Amino acid sequence: MANAFRVVIIGGGVAGMETAMTLGRGRHRTIQITLIDKGAVHYWKPMLHEFAAGTGEESRDCTTFAEASRRFGFRFIQSSLSKVDREKHEILLANDEVVPYDMLIVALGSRSNDFGIEGVAANCTFIDSLPDASLFHEKFRSAFRDAAAAGRKLDVGIVGGGATGTQLAAELCSAIDLAPGFGKEARKNILRLSLIETGKRILPAFPERVSSDARKQLEELGVNVLTDAMVSAVDSEGFHLKDGRIILAELRVWAAGVRANAATELFEGLEMARGGQIVVNHRMQSTRDTSIFALGDCAHISDAPLPATAQVARQQGIYLGRAIPVIAQGREPSTFVYQDRGAVVSLGDYNGWGMVGSSKSFGGGLLRGLAPRWVHDLIFRQHQIGVMGVARGTAAFLKAHLLPTRPRLD
Ligand SMILES: Cc1cc2nc3c(=O)[nH]c(=O)nc-3n(C[C@H](O)[C@H](O)[C@H](O)COP(=O)(O)OP(=O)(O)OC[C@H]3O[C@@H](n4cnc5c(N)ncnc54)[C@H](O)[C@@H]3O)c2cc1C
Repeated sequence: MANAFRVVIIGGGVAGMETAMTLGRGRHRTIQITLIDKGAVHYWKPMLHEFAAGTGEESRDCTTFAEASRRFGFRFIQSSLSKVDREKHEILLANDEVVPYDMLIVALGSRSNDFGIEGVAANCTFIDSLPDASLFHEKFRSAFRDAAAAGRKLDVGIVGGGATGTQLAAELCSAIDLAPGFGKEARKNILRLSLIETGKRILPAFPERVSSDARKQLEELGVNVLTDAMVSAVDSEGFHLKDGRIILAELRVWAAGVRANAATELFEGLEMARGGQIVVNHRMQSTRDTSIFALGDCAHISDAPLPATAQVARQQGIYLGRAIPVIAQGREPSTFVYQDRGAVVSLGDYNGWGMVGSSKSFGGGLLRGLAPRWVHDLIFRQHQIGVMGVARGTAAFLKAHLLPTRPRLD
């Protein structure tokens, strides 16, 4: 495509994939789209706790970039970012390929923040990517099997009482309840799970009622929920708290804090926020380089920062996918306006809550969480149908609900 406007998207998660899909659907003849991701498979990051527990299925819930690239007409390169040459308008990849761009979209996402606490990096598993989640699942599976065979308890500790840690705690319980071959009492008899949160309550982004109901639900499941508990160090024994307590944990998960993907450090000279995110204006354009745009968890809108959520990433991806053809014609697109459609948290099949907009909450009680669970799932399935197409996406949705995964832990 001679003289095409070259759009390069680095990172094919929620934000990057939505950008590529929206742009690809327009079939713009003069725009050449290249998407680069370090993995071969596109996944919906809010499902990572399900892959970690074994209740999500990669073959059912994920799509290869190769398949998506055919559907949406973009070129896919599996590699990761090594260097950015802003003067030459090109990036260098780990596979030594040089990719020139007219417009570079940075959608590299985020990772957990260890806040420099001693021993976290060496002794904890992070659930920041699909390979991380799969690795944790293998560890969980073999540790659970060994504990069951030896008739002893398995101590698991999760740090971070936000949506990730709280949902992971419930999903691990759910995985054991659903796993064939261990009996109904396996969760109670084998798992000893602690959820450690430094703040006063878990799920701080939700109303207090949701936090206290979720805590009650987890405690009913046998989870030891600790709040006001600050971790000062981690070793192979477990978590050392500032007040001197030690929370024993054979398996240790760090699911606290959010900071931008380390690769954003390669963008020398751009304005960066404290969490390592690229500072952008309301058109998602970096404040110091008009050819570089950032969105999702690795972007920070200068005067109106938004939370690191899939909802924000998705809306920004759709916005940019529509704005790019306007920019390619040398015109200025309208600005991005975020619409807060609320938030949902789901504790496996046990319970769940949602918030409509930023105020009214629903779920728990009579609804016993099924409505929020469905809403949670529907948000993902809507994206999945977009990526996979209606037939495959609907089949995956039906399969997930009619034949829920019974993870093998033996
Ligand atoms: C367990 C968990 C549960 C969550 N639950 C919710 C929820 O219920 N609701 C909600 O709104 N949000 C939730 N979130 C947050 C949500 O997942 C993120 O806000 C969202 O995925 C951000 O999208 P993104 O496109 O910025 O990043 P991502 O979706 O993480 O995409 C980043 C992409 O970049 C690729 N990449 C990374 N490094 C490189 C590199 N060096 N080179 C090339 N490619 C690279 C990755 O492979 C990935 O595909 C959850 C997060 C986690 C971890």
